[in-house]
Amino acid sequence: MVNVLVFNNATNGMERHALQLHNPMPYVTGGTLTVREFRARSNSNIIWTDIRAMRAWNTTRAAWGRGIYVGAAFKRIGEGGHANQSQHYAGVSFDVGQNLTAHGRTQLRATATNVGVWSYVEPAYLTPTWVHFDARLGPPACAAGYPLLREGSRGVYVCTLQDALSTVRIPNVGIDGVFGPMTRNAVMTYQRQNGLSADGVVGDADIIEPTRRNRYNSRVSEVGQAISHFGADSANVKN
Ligand SMILES: [Zn+2]
Repeated sequence: MVNVLVFNNATNGMERHALQLHNPMPYVTGGTLTVREFRARSNSNIIWTDIRAMRAWNTTRAAWGRGIYVGAAFKRIGEGGHANQSQHYAGVSFDVGQNLTAHGRTQLRATATNVGVWSYVEPAYLTPTWVHFDARLGPPACAAGYPLLREGSRGVYVCTLQDALSTVRIPNVGIDGVFGPMTRNAVMTYQRQNGLSADGVVGDADIIEPTRRNRYNSRVSEVGQAISHFGADSANVKN
């Protein structure tokens, strides 16, 4: 069984679905994307996404008109294989079309662009052997890899933050996508441990400091860098 958290962008609520790997993802129509396909190479028994991403999938799949092979999609922050600002950690990204010819990928990229439902479709020169598209939050809500988060925030980026905090072993509520008092306390613990202003807000520029000091081992460093990119500059966003 896999716990699938889905952020409902319309109601600002987190929904929880207990599903089997062969079940379709919530809000996916026609069984075109299973839990197994979306979880892809992750082994996590908890995964997350939002309704925007699932509906963007539906639109893209309908426009394409046939199956879309998913090589990677959801990824936990501690599972490696992605850069530390990856939108895959937020559960809103897809890497697809690995089984197509270069010409087929060009067509799929064009389809994903033309449907107009994705925040970002990666150009071929960056990822020639797959097609990356994602439903990241765009400016002005998020001018960065991840948006600024504070108590009261909800959604997939809160899941990413909670995953990061638990990976560096700071006690937290677990992963529920709701930035409540316990998550704020965990953030303040992280900030104190790293000599930062303990304001409980993730995304202040000073959170970048521990990355610069580079005093973590590699795994913790990746998480620290991810935390540092909430609300950070957009120049180095990874996909
Ligand atoms: Zn990707």
